[in-house]
Amino acid sequence: MSSITQDIQEILITEQQLKEKVKELGRMITKDYQGKDLVLLGVLKGAIMFMADLSRAIDLPLSIDFMAVSSYGSSTQSSGIVKIIKDHDINIEGKDVLIVEDIIDSGLTLSYLRETLLGRKPRSLKICTILDKPERREADVKVDYCGFKIPDKFVVGYGLDFDEKYRNLPFIGVLKPELYK
Ligand code: 5GP
Repeated sequence: MSSITQDIQEILITEQQLKEKVKELGRMITKDYQGKDLVLLGVLKGAIMFMADLSRAIDLPLSIDFMAVSSYGSSTQSSGIVKIIKDHDINIEGKDVLIVEDIIDSGLTLSYLRETLLGRKPRSLKICTILDKPERREADVKVDYCGFKIPDKFVVGYGLDFDEKYRNLPFIGVLKPELYK
């Protein structure tokens, strides 16, 4: 019998740690967005698990939308040139938009997205990510809500993929090096 867990060298963040952190972020967001018109804007596909859990941890009326972007570059490195594959459907003008991301690495994708969305005149625009790799930052992006700061390692699980696989792992882990070849 094959198991995807066998491909993991190291678990960086356990399922339990993710659950607790998402609850904590949900409580903070619930407090900060009282009386506002919150739109959670997830970035596909990596943010799907985080969006599903985070939205249920926020005790407020809110809307959910998604965008899909592709950043040109190799599978493990972003180039900063971003193309919108799927735009959001909700009109965000005058809304309090919170971008929901899986991971901020160089920050190039998010800094492009932020500029594009600001042009659409939301009342506020903030960023929430479950993972942050601050060592690799190239663009200056302010992260308003961050789950975990992680070292410069390529991670999979909880929505994050390698070659479209491993998104369904319930934890964040590092793949065995031989699998990258
Ligand atoms: P940035 O533009 O910040 O360099 O890239 C962000 C995007 O690169 C993330 O949304 C994600 O798709 C991808 N990425 C960056 N680091 C990792 C990683 O460690 N694992 C995976 N699976 N994707 C990553």
